[in-house]
Amino acid sequence: MKFVGAHVSIGGGVENAPKNAAEIGAKAFALFTKNQRQWAAKPYDKKQVETFKSECDRYGFGADYILPHDSYLINLGSPESESLEKSREAFIDEIRRCEALGLKLLNFHPGSHKKLISEEECIELIAESVNIALDRTQGVSAVIENTAGQGSNIGFRFEQLAAIIDLVEDKTRIGVCLDSCHLFAAGYDLRQKEAYEKTMNEFDRIVGFNYLKGMHLNDAKAPLDSRLDRHESIGLGAIGIEAFRLIMNDSRLDNIPLILETIDESIWAQEIALLYSLIDATKTR
Ligand SMILES: [Zn+2]
Ligand SMILES: [Zn+2]
Repeated sequence: MKFVGAHVSIGGGVENAPKNAAEIGAKAFALFTKNQRQWAAKPYDKKQVETFKSECDRYGFGADYILPHDSYLINLGSPESESLEKSREAFIDEIRRCEALGLKLLNFHPGSHKKLISEEECIELIAESVNIALDRTQGVSAVIENTAGQGSNIGFRFEQLAAIIDLVEDKTRIGVCLDSCHLFAAGYDLRQKEAYEKTMNEFDRIVGFNYLKGMHLNDAKAPLDSRLDRHESIGLGAIGIEAFRLIMNDSRLDNIPLILETIDESIWAQEIALLYSLIDATKTR
């Protein structure tokens, strides 16, 4: 079964996210654990946590289908020791927020070497950051998002994701989230069956579907291999609708959160309905 949703607002508090997701017909959702533009925030109060959990129950969202996203400020591979330290503390705080809410996943962007250290050194720092964070927390898996490879961001090649996973000690608490826009921007084609299968089979060979904990469904404004992170509404970009038909009919992508981060949130309900309409009920694969 497919669990499609969107990255919904936490305006007024995280406890409002489940209702925001239910209102657009989502079966999954993503959220920031706090204001993503600030390093620190006060802990949740007891009432907030209780309301979040009861709202998830009310609207039928299980923890496996809720994919929190960490702050854009965090760089777990930072070459600068002060920002690395700050990032590690903030990442641990975010995992603890997920723990408090009874959640199991935290999606993060691997990090950036800022052209000050090598890719390998950056990968080692990221893995060390994850090891430290997992050591000091429990129950939540760190979910690496593949990137578009913009600037000096790591994580745009499957080999880089695999290299990070390889260095993480607790393999039961590390996963991957594939963003379709980032895949395409990084040169992984998804537009027709043959190209789609090539990309997905390569992912399986190098990383493995056993690590796939979620996907971000975004069309792309920029062409294949542009290295530009520019999201577009489903079917309106350079990727096109056929890729999303292939995704919606791929049983390897069953039972994980499939999250829209498309640019026009006023049409998320239509996009979710559109994605479900692509499922071919006559065939199972
Ligand atoms: Zn992201
Ligand atoms: Zn994404």
